[in-house]
Amino acid sequence: MLDLHVHLLGHLDREANADNIRTFLEQARTSNLKQIGFADHDMYWEKLNLGLIREVAEEYPDLQVRVGLEVDYREGLEWPIKRLLDSFPFDYVIGSVHQLDGWFFDSPGEEEKHKCCDPDKYYRQYFDAVEKAASSGLFDIIGHFDLIKIFNMRPHTDVRTLAASALRAIKEQGLVVEINTNGRYKPVKEFYPELKLIEIMKEMGIPFTLGSDAHDSVAVGRDISEVCHMLKELNIDYVVGFKQRKPQKIAI
Ligand code: ZN
Ligand code: FE
Ligand code: FE
Repeated sequence: MLDLHVHLLGHLDREANADNIRTFLEQARTSNLKQIGFADHDMYWEKLNLGLIREVAEEYPDLQVRVGLEVDYREGLEWPIKRLLDSFPFDYVIGSVHQLDGWFFDSPGEEEKHKCCDPDKYYRQYFDAVEKAASSGLFDIIGHFDLIKIFNMRPHTDVRTLAASALRAIKEQGLVVEINTNGRYKPVKEFYPELKLIEIMKEMGIPFTLGSDAHDSVAVGRDISEVCHMLKELNIDYVVGFKQRKPQKIAI
């Protein structure tokens, strides 16, 4: 299987050296992955060593090692993002919304702020940003589609209604949505996106990829086989990998 959302650096918890890359790739083998993609946060751009990942990958001919990036999407910063993406031959790029008007709403400790306001307001703001990220044409994958639920604050309005325009933009742009297993380890305790969103995406013909959002090597491939089971039960028989920004169907 595959895992395209792996943070080699974590939050600068370690360096991008060959030994650390090997530790992640060993875990990819242990987790039975065929394809692993590193997608560190764009804010650590200067600490990345993307060429070294490709070099070390040659020691692992049984693994398809991809190099991607997780970009923190902010409206108005499309041009600097584009310049960054043009400066390396990425295999794929994940567009993620982590902030609303400069508020990093998914950071630990931000829970109280989620409670003090109408959740529908935050959900609307969030999905509006996701829609803009999808329409920007910068990305291949939309990361953790319903991250705004991280502290388990649920909207009054049906989430499918709140997400409708973002979903349309994703469909129109031909983007892929990741099933991100990391939500299970956050207060919300479920994958991103939730099941009824996965179902509506399936109906719309939006394809899926898989990501653990591992910030250390032990989490590489975590719960990925469980997601494959779940997708099969929904009659989804493939997920999408990437090479040189071209999607490749992979049978589950
Ligand atoms: Zn992170
Ligand atoms: Fe993220
Ligand atoms: Fe991430």
